[in-house]
Amino acid sequence: MLLTALRRAGCQAYPVGGCVRDSLLGREPADWDLATSALPEQTEAALAGYRLVETGLKHGTVTALTDGGPVEITTFRTDGAYHDGRHPDRVAFVPSLEEDLARRDFTVNAMALAPDGTVIDLYGGREDLAAGLIRCVGEPSRRFGEDALRILRALRFASKLDFAIEPETARRALADRALLDRVSRERVMAELSGILTGPGAGRVLRQYGPVIFQVIPELAPQAGFDQKNPNHIHDIWTHTTMAVDAVEADPVLRLTMLLHDVGKPAAFFTDEAGVGHFYGHAKIGAEMADDILLRLRCSGEMRRQVVTFITWHDIEPPGTKKAMARLAAKLGEDTVRRLIQCWRADSADRAPAVRERNLAVIARSEQALEQALAGEERCFSLRDLAVDGRDIMALGVPEGPAVGRVLKALFGRVLDGELANRREELLAAARDITEDCNPQKTDV
Ligand code: ATP
Ligand code: MG
Repeated sequence: MLLTALRRAGCQAYPVGGCVRDSLLGREPADWDLATSALPEQTEAALAGYRLVETGLKHGTVTALTDGGPVEITTFRTDGAYHDGRHPDRVAFVPSLEEDLARRDFTVNAMALAPDGTVIDLYGGREDLAAGLIRCVGEPSRRFGEDALRILRALRFASKLDFAIEPETARRALADRALLDRVSRERVMAELSGILTGPGAGRVLRQYGPVIFQVIPELAPQAGFDQKNPNHIHDIWTHTTMAVDAVEADPVLRLTMLLHDVGKPAAFFTDEAGVGHFYGHAKIGAEMADDILLRLRCSGEMRRQVVTFITWHDIEPPGTKKAMARLAAKLGEDTVRRLIQCWRADSADRAPAVRERNLAVIARSEQALEQALAGEERCFSLRDLAVDGRDIMALGVPEGPAVGRVLKALFGRVLDGELANRREELLAAARDITEDCNPQKTDV
């Protein structure tokens, strides 16, 4: 294996970082990283039999593609001075593992495995692992100053491992949050997604709101925002964080719940009785989310999905087959199923009586959807219609847009429940439609 091959070539090589951390936690590591004394060209020579990719030669990294997945092999290095708060100006290769471990971000990420299987742990990583703590290696303010992305990484590991952040590291993460303005948006988005999908997401969002508001300022007005409405028992931000936890740990759904009420503060008004309302907040929020996700360089597909869910998150779930069928026809089956998950998550922290009522309506809507989908005459898109373009042309409609118009008219009537999705019935209706359009034909 790789370690043996590198050691046979006379180089030191150690599994390091996340894989050591995850092994000690009894979890299957997502990937393996090796640190080696070999310079990249020596690594390549020692591993001549492997499929290698030069992923980051400048930073000393060669990736070996093995049956167990890609393994990154990085030469022992220190990171030189950072002038932009993100990229070291240069990296310097160093002779020892000890110096390499010192550049790593957190104590739990700064351990290596020696050839005899013992753990090399110079910064108390095992102790912090046992205590469930994310702690910077060295002085937090210096480490965040070198690379501000580490602020978000601290939150990500706290969420992913469901750990606390050690008090001094936590204090500096909050105090130094403005440094995040220097970090590229793609990196911010990747870390945010990691924070949102971890088991500690809601708690981390509640504890480090200001860090999140640094990268999404549009969310800041939610903190402490009193909704003045008996249906809501929490301020908007607390509700948001609870809604995040309440939905499945899927990146799109979690991002949706993070942003679902972003339009609320702008839509807020109180009626004569002093009760707060947020009419139109879904539409306002969908537009804001679109801007935010565009700015964060989120993929177009993900952005489109989040915006759709936010647009529809606040409708009254329609409990009937007909209305759910219409929604499925408009948005697609899978989208509606996921939208139902958003509705549920949004109800999770309501006042108990409101929650009971909401959950009952949602369950009824879900059942109605499943019944509509299971029906023999299911029809959620033009493709499901029991007739097609050829049938329409056979009635004498010339090939072209007119065919589509007839099909759409039939589809609309099936959705409205006026027509069953049965061939004979549809053909009869199509005949009526085409005759209406060509009265001279009926004269014949
Ligand atoms: P994951 O399982 O989420 O991939 P990981 O610990 O492997 O966790 P990576 O981002 O893959 O995290 O980084 C691998 C290792 O490189 C880390 O464990 C850490 O030692 C080091 N590292 C990565 N990014 C930084 C950084 N910005 N500053 C300091 N050390 C870092
Ligand atoms: Mg990794």
